[in-house]
Amino acid sequence: MDLEFTSEERAFREEVRAFLKDNLPEELSEKVAAGKELSKEDLLRWQAILHERGWLAATWPEEYGGPGWSAVERHIFAEECALHSAPRLVPFGLNMLGPVLLKFGTEEQRREILPRILDGSDWWCQGYSEPGAGSDLASLKTRAVRDGDHYVVNGQKTWTTLGQHANKIFCLVRTSTEGKPQEGISFLLVDLDTPGVEMRPIRLIEGGHEVNEVFFTDARVPAANLVGEENQGWTIAKYLLTHERTNIAGTGFSIKDMERFHRLAGQITRDSRKIADNPIYAARAAEIEIELEALRITNLRMLANAKGGAAGGIESSMLKLKGTQVRQAIQDLYRSALGPQAAPMADELSENELTVPVEAARAAPAYFNNRKLSIFGGSNEIQRNIVAKELYRR
Ligand SMILES: Cc1cc2nc3c(=O)[nH]c(=O)nc-3n(C[C@H](O)[C@H](O)[C@H](O)COP(=O)(O)OP(=O)(O)OC[C@H]3O[C@@H](n4cnc5c(N)ncnc54)[C@H](O)[C@@H]3O)c2cc1C
Repeated sequence: MDLEFTSEERAFREEVRAFLKDNLPEELSEKVAAGKELSKEDLLRWQAILHERGWLAATWPEEYGGPGWSAVERHIFAEECALHSAPRLVPFGLNMLGPVLLKFGTEEQRREILPRILDGSDWWCQGYSEPGAGSDLASLKTRAVRDGDHYVVNGQKTWTTLGQHANKIFCLVRTSTEGKPQEGISFLLVDLDTPGVEMRPIRLIEGGHEVNEVFFTDARVPAANLVGEENQGWTIAKYLLTHERTNIAGTGFSIKDMERFHRLAGQITRDSRKIADNPIYAARAAEIEIELEALRITNLRMLANAKGGAAGGIESSMLKLKGTQVRQAIQDLYRSALGPQAAPMADELSENELTVPVEAARAAPAYFNNRKLSIFGGSNEIQRNIVAKELYRR
């Protein structure tokens, strides 16, 4: 196992840095650094810049428009993007549906759908969860009944992230009630403008509109929109979730957030002394930094193993679990360092009314919003179950 980057990898990091310096629009990185909500136009603008460079779909093979990067190069790219406060790429088309079509789709589906993800023509969202099916996904009830060359879909999905921007949704639907619940699920692609499909917003605790619920009433979906075989959806769903979780670790975001904490700690005073000089905050920051360093090394160790062809196994669960714990711990530290000054909802105040540095103004909303990290992509309790099961089996 070699945890050092090679000279080619170091050169690649320099290339990414230079690209970001020259091409990442300042307005976008300022918005990201300040924790502001990005519009659809913002997100598509950044996607178009990366697409132009051929760097948009990190996990796809070159034949379909990917950059042909190794796992280490993908990691370096993601880390540098976070460190430069680049907008986070919307993962549903790029990191979820893309890999699924590459493995399970027909060539026709690949040729038709993948280019439209790359050029931003289609915005996909994820229709897995339902009111009674989250962690226990196999209990999902949305039904798709075959009627000639269509499926007729009835049911409800929930927590559909950024669905308000989407024109398409990939769904898990029940196509059979026989056998084990896992055996009757299929993976279906649905146009959101199909009659009988309705999207409604869900407001979050910090005031944002990030998630939605989607209702299907006798929506007729062409049978050609099925991915893989009928009732093969569970296998596809599990494959997709491994991709989803790996992308949630986010060490680059944690490094960046830790930098912000240190900057804040040097700037503001509480109980008549700088936060940086307060031993309680210093000790907690050191504790989290040790965790973060351990996470980074674990991440690199896994990348080194992947390079050597080792199996993925439970690694994505471990990265998701630890990565989100560290991110939440930093946000908790940051918010508590601000004390009561973290309370105002920044969007309600003009910049000269703020009592904290502008970049700290959204500490409370960001803290509340990021409670989600340990829930979505499979809750952390479930990840612990997965890891424990594997360890006890050995
Ligand atoms: C902000 C946000 C965005 C999301 N975006 C999407 C999206 O775009 N598309 C989509 O399909 N879904 C999305 N989700 C849904 C997400 O995947 C689910 O919320 C998640 O899988 C948990 O399911 P649940 O909410 O039904 O909670 P439940 O499964 O009801 O769990 C409630 C609690 O019980 C615990 N628990 C449940 N079962 C066990 C067990 N066996 N052992 C130990 N503990 C257990 C859970 O960990 C949790 O703490 C999103 C969720 C959030 C919060």
